[in-house]
Amino acid sequence: MTPARYTVAVRALCEFTAKAGDLDLRFTPSPTAQEGIAGHGVVTSRRDDDYETEVSLSGDFGPLHVRGRADGYDARANRLEEIKTYRGDLKKMPDNQRALHWAQVKVYGHLLCEDRGLEKIRLALVYFDIGSQKETVLHEDYTAADLQAWFEQQCGLFIRWAEQEMAHRAERDLQLKAMRFPYSDFRPGQRQLAEAMYRASNRKVCLLAQAPTGIGKSVGSLFPMLKASADHGVDKIFFLAAKTSGRQMALDAVDLIREGAPLLPLRTLELAAKSTACVNPDKACHGDSCPLAKGFYDRLPDARASALALMAPSGSESSGSAPPALDRDTLRAIALAHNVCPYYLSSEMARWCDIVIGDYNYYFDSSAMLHSLTQLNDWKVNVLVDEAHNMVSRARKMYSADMEHDGVRLLRKIVPDELKKPLERVHKQWNQLEKDQSAEYQSYAALPEKFMGALQTAATAISDYMADHPGYVEPDLQSFYFNALMFAKLAESFGDHALFDIEKSPGARASNSNSVLCIRNIVPAPYLKPRFDSTHTTALFSATLSPWNYFGDMLGMPETTAWVDVESPFAAEQLSVQVASHISTRYAHRQQSLRPIADLMGKQYAAQRGNYLAFFSSFDYMEKAANQFSELYPDVPVWRQSRRMDEAERAQFLDRFTLDSEGIGFAVLGGSFGEGVDLPGARLIGAFVATLGLPQINPVNEQIRARMETIFGAGYDYTYTYPGMQKVVQAAGRVIRTTSDRGTVYLIDDRFGRPEIQELMPSWWSIERHSPLANRDSSENAEA
Ligand code: SF4
Repeated sequence: MTPARYTVAVRALCEFTAKAGDLDLRFTPSPTAQEGIAGHGVVTSRRDDDYETEVSLSGDFGPLHVRGRADGYDARANRLEEIKTYRGDLKKMPDNQRALHWAQVKVYGHLLCEDRGLEKIRLALVYFDIGSQKETVLHEDYTAADLQAWFEQQCGLFIRWAEQEMAHRAERDLQLKAMRFPYSDFRPGQRQLAEAMYRASNRKVCLLAQAPTGIGKSVGSLFPMLKASADHGVDKIFFLAAKTSGRQMALDAVDLIREGAPLLPLRTLELAAKSTACVNPDKACHGDSCPLAKGFYDRLPDARASALALMAPSGSESSGSAPPALDRDTLRAIALAHNVCPYYLSSEMARWCDIVIGDYNYYFDSSAMLHSLTQLNDWKVNVLVDEAHNMVSRARKMYSADMEHDGVRLLRKIVPDELKKPLERVHKQWNQLEKDQSAEYQSYAALPEKFMGALQTAATAISDYMADHPGYVEPDLQSFYFNALMFAKLAESFGDHALFDIEKSPGARASNSNSVLCIRNIVPAPYLKPRFDSTHTTALFSATLSPWNYFGDMLGMPETTAWVDVESPFAAEQLSVQVASHISTRYAHRQQSLRPIADLMGKQYAAQRGNYLAFFSSFDYMEKAANQFSELYPDVPVWRQSRRMDEAERAQFLDRFTLDSEGIGFAVLGGSFGEGVDLPGARLIGAFVATLGLPQINPVNEQIRARMETIFGAGYDYTYTYPGMQKVVQAAGRVIRTTSDRGTVYLIDDRFGRPEIQELMPSWWSIERHSPLANRDSSENAEA
């Protein structure tokens, strides 16, 4: 049944009805969110005591329910204000942006007249200049009747769209309720995962799901969440992946689900990074530069309608296959057919799709688009996070920033005169920091006030300069500016969850020393927790999410978070796990370990020829081990991972693992081949994992360890053991991919024999101690 009401935010309504002309994102530094909030505060503090702020308003038009918050109302003057903060020259604000502001304040004006029974009202756009703190006020007087006509006109423009959206939603939910699982039965473990997902959505809690490879996690998570969408009134599912391959797996899962439900109207969008989606990388995103930005909003409605039409089912069950998803190629083709930018078309389509598939950044980083849209539209969303063991390191990067002194040195020479002084001050303060620090690396409990002040002044100066000279483009200055803004933003929330450190280049003389300053997030929890809180459910899943308290603590999972350890579909007999405890791979013993490792590999290869992967903790160790092995076993084919392999080179490396090939691939633990690689059957029959994958002991990690000890009382485990063992289990997990696979894993280091380390391994593994004597024989044979 069609729902009775369609709720739309005032801003979303006006963006749909009143946006026209060019896309214009030319580099005019807009105020940061904090500056915007502060600017609003300054304006409202200048008003009388009885000035109302954040006035909640709503109204209906047919099935439309329009709601929002007007910035301020002065009842005595009968003046409704919409406050906009800006930088630079107000005259340069594009006309279509101004028109959008008027559209919004007029809708608020109508809602207020209705609410208070007013016959007329003064509407004002208050533009507040962040630099000068001055207000420019534009005002117009309207009668209630004028505003009602305006409101009805806007709603009239939107209502057909809203009606088809309501019909889509009703049909989607109807079909989802009837949808059947795409296979005749669930795979072992898959049902447990699916049930845990559905239950989490039913209870409105987050979920950490440790689920082994091979159970069909993409289908096992999307299917129950789709069911939950219909049953729990969920507007959208965001499927977030760490890599492109994860996005593809989600798209494949959606295709599979839809094949069994050809009448299901399900709109699926893949979000690609701007750098890959842009078709004119040599241009800038405004109508004077890029033809796909010129008149973007005029052509957007047709492009949007085409995209939706393409995803609509034909209406007949016998019509064959399900309609396509808006993957990046399909979306690009539609965008180009309508002469609009594919990247910004994809941002638009995120508003209208049921499933959005993209990188973690789109929901979790500091300016995440999907999170902003969720807030703006008050969506109820279920978020799925694939390969979630990556979240700790990825989220740390999202909330860290660094800067290099040499960059500022260079910049001082090339910037316009107006900017030389503020950059000089930054340079001077930086010199002082370097002078004050005798050690190469040092971490500080507080941020250096004077330096931060100089940086803030420089950022404001650049911002004002850019606003006055919109045509000036200097990429190095822009990247310094964005970095400075990020520093300022992170400084505002600096606390126990972050380190501030300075690392000087080794051996540099004081006069020309270089150094890197870093605000380094180490516990992303404070940033991520509010993101989890604004979802209906977030489910994080991966084969390695143990121990759960580590992930709960680091990511800031809410206390109500559920945890499930999904039963493995694999049997212990499928995998021989052997601990080579006669070898130590500790840094000091690496040289001596090369020979016994080579012998162990040679012996295993002789006993069972086939394809193997051998993992080492660094390229250096890997190279030495591969050289030693080739010297002793020259007949065994060997191929090696190299630094900075591109996608084609990585594919080439993996293509060597065929059903008939034999040899050993040498790779780095935690690198491209240590996870997300699927080589079933004879394509991979074994793995050697040398070292526990522990992060290097260095000053930064030691600082992290100390902080983890203070916060969680588990410094060593949270810094070294857990991240290392996740890499080990991921790498070993390459061997058994299906229930018919058989294989062998050697864990090479005596520490793998310790009970507390074995506790971090999958419970279905049956771990044996490897006999070193067998290797000694083998090495003697090899020498002979
Ligand atoms: S095609 Fe590229 S340059 Fe043009 S608007 Fe899109 S992202 Fe910007």
